[in-house]
Amino acid sequence: MKFQAWVTTDRGLRRETNQDAYLLDAASGIFAVADGMGGHSGGEIASSLAVETLQDCFRQKSLNDPEEENLKTAFVKASRRIFDRASEDSSELVGMGTTLVSIFYSKGRIFLGNVGDSRCYLFRDHKLWQITEDHSLLNDQVRSGNMSEEQAKQIIARNVITRSVGYERDVYPDIWERTVDSGDIYLLCSDGLTSMVPDYKISEILSKSSSEERAAKCVQEALKSGGDDNVTVLIIEFQA
Ligand code: CA
Repeated sequence: MKFQAWVTTDRGLRRETNQDAYLLDAASGIFAVADGMGGHSGGEIASSLAVETLQDCFRQKSLNDPEEENLKTAFVKASRRIFDRASEDSSELVGMGTTLVSIFYSKGRIFLGNVGDSRCYLFRDHKLWQITEDHSLLNDQVRSGNMSEEQAKQIIARNVITRSVGYERDVYPDIWERTVDSGDIYLLCSDGLTSMVPDYKISEILSKSSSEERAAKCVQEALKSGGDDNVTVLIIEFQA
């Protein structure tokens, strides 16, 4: 299976800095989007440390481990590195953390890891599927049946997440393994896309745009809809 990947990131129209980070390392087959949080540049530091750690792990990974374990280990290493950095540093960085959604591709299969409310979607046969489950207060309320999605949106700040990389020293990522089909398009994004652009619109953009344009068009749509947050879109397309 061959693949190509594209990424676009933008500060958005209301934030002063871009605390999103991404990793596109086609040679190692590792891709990620991270959305950092924390004051005094903590957000930027956390998201950059997360993607750097992931890249380090997959460049030097021991080939004996099952791929799934490699991804889990990489998430835990990232969390410890961010947590330790916050503890060593001035008190300004305490509490920094990041979302992290990542795909590792190996021999016709992808391994997907997620913590937080950045997302992974699969676009296959002109349909868009959200694969990851948000670790957010909003989603928890909806899942537990306490509130409808509409009620929850009105009461709960959309961006409160219940799991992050680096806020605590250990982290438990959700992990999936999937077989890749020719024509599959995987999209990784920060919530700067999904809080501004509904799924049906993302699906429409993926259907109508050429491969090279898709990531940029999604980001443009988020900006057109208000650009409230930093926005990052990374797309991987597989062809036999
Ligand atoms: Ca965000």
